[in-house]
Amino acid sequence: MSSPKQLSSDTITAHLPNQHLAMNHLQIGYWELDLQSRKMICTAPCKTIFGLAETDEFTYEKLLSLIHDDDLPLMQQQINNVIAHQTDNYNTEYRIEQSNGTMRWIKADGWIILDDNKLARLAGTIQDITDRKLSDLRKEELLSIVTHEINTPLTGIKGYLQLLERMLSASDNTKASQVIERAIKSSERLENILSDYFSHYKSSTPERLDRLHDFRLDELIKEIADNIQTIASTHQIIIRNMPEVWVHGDRQDLGQVLSNLLTNAIKYSPDHDAVHVDLQMDTKNATVCITDYGMGIAQINLDKLFNKSYRVNNYSAITGSGMGLYICREIINRHKGRIGVQSVEGKGSTFHFTLPII
Ligand code: ADP
Repeated sequence: MSSPKQLSSDTITAHLPNQHLAMNHLQIGYWELDLQSRKMICTAPCKTIFGLAETDEFTYEKLLSLIHDDDLPLMQQQINNVIAHQTDNYNTEYRIEQSNGTMRWIKADGWIILDDNKLARLAGTIQDITDRKLSDLRKEELLSIVTHEINTPLTGIKGYLQLLERMLSASDNTKASQVIERAIKSSERLENILSDYFSHYKSSTPERLDRLHDFRLDELIKEIADNIQTIASTHQIIIRNMPEVWVHGDRQDLGQVLSNLLTNAIKYSPDHDAVHVDLQMDTKNATVCITDYGMGIAQINLDKLFNKSYRVNNYSAITGSGMGLYICREIINRHKGRIGVQSVEGKGSTFHFTLPII
């Protein structure tokens, strides 16, 4: 939506329904923009959050002008989506610069209002989340430093263990070899946990627009499959159907989804040697299917599979953090896609995800 012109505003004071009183009490701002007349109304906390006095005029143009330049495109993109697809709502976080120069973080939710099935108004709530946001950012920075600090010596420990393993392989000290093998597995587990938790942290932060691009999904699939094939000597990754498909999104994050699903397919089919990858498309969506012929998953466990830290108990011999599928779901949801699984215990699983094509 282009920026509306000739806006006027009014503070909602009369005829306040109880919801507005409650929102005022909680310092949640509420605004409504009439898409025909371009008139904007809002509650007093809405103006306060934007650093305005109750008597100041507040227009939609003013609202947009206070949003930080780096965050404005994402906010506008979300509003455009809601209007274009008449979807239920948007929610986003952005920074604003109040007129006195103070920077605040805002959580914004918005939706459209229909009159007689016709698009009539845009409405939204806003909340000042600066304190939480700054504390989250500090935590994220700390986590990043700690992860890095642990990773460096961990890589060293793993390297020395591998060296020891090679030195021992010439001898017939099987007991010592077993102990070292376990130590290497434990260090790998720790590496996985660190990378899973850190990427989860990243995946819960808002999308960065500069990481969103149009790219070929089929090329990404081939690239990730090739990378994983080089380290997976036990399985052959067989790409069956791969039409040219363009999508819009975060290539790196979607690469992580493919990598998690392919790694799982190999990890949970230790007695088999093939994993199949297919890409299908219709007029709106592309669907990627990754199929293995391994242990499969009991129906009873299927709906919990994408929950945070969930692991199916009886595979405790295979290490993992239970975060991989949760991260996959987060990423696919952010791309307005769907992820799911079909599985038969003892026969294998197909994990599939669907993304809108462009
Ligand atoms: P992790 O593999 O680190 O435990 P995930 O979140 O990737 O974590 O997977 C969660 C659980 O789902 C796994 O512990 C495993 O029980 C099950 N699972 C995932 N992929 C497969 C698969 N291809 N076949 C069988 N079970 C799977």
